[in-house]
Amino acid sequence: MSVNKTCFSEDSLKSWNVSTIAPHRLLMSSPIQSLPREVINLIAAGEVIDSLAAVVRELVENSLDAGATSIYISLWPDLWRVQVADNGRGMTLRDLKFCAEPHSTSKIHSSEDLYRISSLGFRGEALHSLTQVADLEILSRSVEDIEEGVGWRIVYRKGKIIKEEPVAIATGTIVTVSNLFAKLPLRRKSLPSTSKQLKAVQEIIGEIALCHPQVTWQVRQKEQLWLQISPGTSADRILPQIVNRLRQSDLQLLKLDLKTPNEENIETVEKSKMELTIGLPDRCHRRRADWIKVGINGRVVRSPEIEQTIISAFAKTLPRDRYPVCFVHLQTSPCQIDWNRHPAKAKIYLHSIKYWQEQVALAIERALRISPANLPAAENQRVGKLLKASEEKGTYSIKERSKNKKEEISLIDLRAVAQVRNTYIVAEHPTGLWLIEQHIAHERILYEQLQDDWKLVALETPIILSQLRSAQLEQLQRLGIEIENFGEQLWAVRAIPEMLQQRDDLTDAIIELSWGGDLQEAQVATACRSAIRNGTPLNLSQMQTLLDRWKSTRNPSTCPHGRPIYLSLEETALSRFFRRNWVIGKSHGI
Ligand code: ADP
Ligand code: MG
Repeated sequence: MSVNKTCFSEDSLKSWNVSTIAPHRLLMSSPIQSLPREVINLIAAGEVIDSLAAVVRELVENSLDAGATSIYISLWPDLWRVQVADNGRGMTLRDLKFCAEPHSTSKIHSSEDLYRISSLGFRGEALHSLTQVADLEILSRSVEDIEEGVGWRIVYRKGKIIKEEPVAIATGTIVTVSNLFAKLPLRRKSLPSTSKQLKAVQEIIGEIALCHPQVTWQVRQKEQLWLQISPGTSADRILPQIVNRLRQSDLQLLKLDLKTPNEENIETVEKSKMELTIGLPDRCHRRRADWIKVGINGRVVRSPEIEQTIISAFAKTLPRDRYPVCFVHLQTSPCQIDWNRHPAKAKIYLHSIKYWQEQVALAIERALRISPANLPAAENQRVGKLLKASEEKGTYSIKERSKNKKEEISLIDLRAVAQVRNTYIVAEHPTGLWLIEQHIAHERILYEQLQDDWKLVALETPIILSQLRSAQLEQLQRLGIEIENFGEQLWAVRAIPEMLQQRDDLTDAIIELSWGGDLQEAQVATACRSAIRNGTPLNLSQMQTLLDRWKSTRNPSTCPHGRPIYLSLEETALSRFFRRNWVIGKSHGI
């Protein structure tokens, strides 16, 4: 792209190379029209432009609706100025003169259209509002304009067009908003500090980029490059560019075709799609739930129900008080969604929410399993660090490891070969070797077994407990453990979790369970107590059985406390580490 690298001036934008035209932008759009009164009355009214971030959101959404694949944003927060330039479809002079009229849009025309919204915008309010609270300039050249290089520039002041002139510009649109809220000093004062506003802008751009990974983004602040996002095929390419210290190899992507639900429960031919990107729990998690995001048809929305589903689906895979990285993007028929609930469209109403929650939970469960498709990439972060450390000590550099390793692996074939320190199982794998910590691998197996079947069995001889507090008693009863009074300060336990049956420390186990926590906690505690201890010698066949059971668990990456279970040492990484490419070994046939 022929954009000046150091300065994002208007002139440089005008010289955008036409070869960057977005392919789907070549589709013709319908002309801008005023919405009929009855449609206006149906639209959720409210203030659209209430911050710098809202300006960016509205302009960028217009660029995306125009089919742009490159969006350049410039911010001058001190001057209350924002510019968004795109290579979208552009506007004809006729539309340009009309686009900032109240309720004027090219995206919907009738009240029925409100039920089949497929664009990000539809209210026809944003540009009009901008002419009311700021100075506005729009340069645009439509794909329909045949005259080479000529577009139009329109300048608004106090809501009126004061200038209209031809300009030389590549196809696309450049909107500049200046002096935002100049006439609303109280509004300016009520807004948070510049740095907070910029953070909000950054968040909005990140969210939109996740939903539109095919777009190239460049954001400048006071002429300096501030943020840059390269395009990718899916959100797993975008997340590492916008989340600190996150690597693509920490992520797992799953794309699914789904049935579209309908109220009458009739099978429809219409397919929905889900794209799920999760951070693998042994590789990344966060202090806050700030990267649990839900996108629907191209926009990140707040969906407390689906967000809760995500948190629950990661339960017992992460350390205490840590949250997953997860982005789920649903693409479904517009009739499934009511966008018209909130002026900024951040809140929506999704029909059949239970169905979507179920699908999200199932997809996360699938993504968490180890399968040939989601074996760790050769670029395992922990191994990467080890190698990096050794690399820093030496003088030889280790080049980028193959990123396509994932695709080459067709079968998981883990063969136990040894036990180290009576704690780690060494397993050979077609692409390298893994170290698996025996206790927590077993704990994962047992925990999932208990989740599926929390079985209580009657005891022939009851266990007698003494000095129980009433809270402990209630807790045991809540867990289904049969317990009854047996005399002064004595209680008899008559049924217990099956897994604990043969244990010598049964009494301790029951006391532990009585100290509180929900059923999940009780299952974790039971699994932890029952799992083989580290330090226990195992023979090869015992190790193999453990590996076979472990690799088919729902979440083999972490134990229920969130600790990683295995470390993979991929052959590619090992061969680089041992400098197997050196020629010196050649003569010995190595
Ligand atoms: P809405 O997006 O709800 O239609 P807006 O006020 O944001 O309302 O925009 C009004 C109209 O102006 C849009 O419907 C579209 O036709 C046109 N428009 C705005 N921005 C652009 C752009 N960047 N490229 C092409 N057309 C645009
Ligand atoms: Mg709009």
